[in-house]
Amino acid sequence: MGGKNGDHEDKFIAMVSAKVGVDLRLSDYAPRTKLRVAAHAIDRPRFPAIDYHCHLDAQSPQAVLGIMDVCGVEKIVNITMQTGQAAIESIDRFHRAAPERFATIGWMDWSGVERRDFTQVSLDRLERLVEHGACGIKFWKDLGTTVRDAGGALLQLDDERLAPIFDKAAELGIPVVFHTADPDAFFDPVDRFNERYEELAAHPDWSFYGSHLSKAALLERRDRVIARHPGTTFVAAHVAESSEDLGYVATLLERNPNLYIDISARTAELGRQPYTSRQFIIKFADRVLFGTDLVPEVDMYRLHYRFLETADEYFEYPSHASRQGRWNIYGLFLPADVLEKVYRANALKLLHTRV
Ligand SMILES: [Zn+2]
Repeated sequence: MGGKNGDHEDKFIAMVSAKVGVDLRLSDYAPRTKLRVAAHAIDRPRFPAIDYHCHLDAQSPQAVLGIMDVCGVEKIVNITMQTGQAAIESIDRFHRAAPERFATIGWMDWSGVERRDFTQVSLDRLERLVEHGACGIKFWKDLGTTVRDAGGALLQLDDERLAPIFDKAAELGIPVVFHTADPDAFFDPVDRFNERYEELAAHPDWSFYGSHLSKAALLERRDRVIARHPGTTFVAAHVAESSEDLGYVATLLERNPNLYIDISARTAELGRQPYTSRQFIIKFADRVLFGTDLVPEVDMYRLHYRFLETADEYFEYPSHASRQGRWNIYGLFLPADVLEKVYRANALKLLHTRV
């Protein structure tokens, strides 16, 4: 009995002090929960859902419609990543297949950014997109991180040269979607302390660590633009890139009545703080949009419904193959009136369609 120290060691202290260093590969570790709790499969959403954040360029409209019909998705807003004529063709392809089931948000075209008349070129491009049916314009995180002007300087989101584009969006009655920055962990060293270690190991190019870029500075510029154009409607994708800090997002929404957020690709973040998330979404129910940012699949949609509608505990979150972090999520059991707004009514407002 006893450890090496024999009589001198208290058995209880020895037990609570025991530590181990194992060399099981992290990639091989796949624990299976032994928890037995209620699990509710939700096949169709409580209200017909509008997926406000999806990328369908590589998909066949007919195949996607089949999935939508099976799992109660009324409409998908396709954020095309094409520009120019290819973007117009993408709009047409989905419009031809089912005009009432698809809408398209255009992608900011940076070709010609070095031109002196780039602002005017962009205004013309935006008009053309909207004439062809685009219901929004997206600015991705390349702005502020890689897009450079004629002088070689990084073009920043709050650059005055871009301001007329945001005003033009207001004039055309379409929202501007921002994906600026990324999760906090993408700015940290990719080491054993990084909570998204495996995800970043799978996508080394997603890490901003070691660059000069600061997340706070990127968000500051975005937030300045949102406040500077109160007549323009903005959608800050991925919970305004700040799902780790819903207090910050709440302040941003309070200060800017022209701002919406989508929950796409952030179920993992929201679902690991279910008390905070539930309160937050109920409070801002008029300005939260359902979106996925994943390849349309029946099980993927059903996991989202389970997350939003049930009080189920400790289940997997919808994600891409590399996952986002080693945790599980908890359902938000949102009230019916909130679900209707998040699934559908808020998106219809931005699409100018009557409920
Ligand atoms: Zn996206």
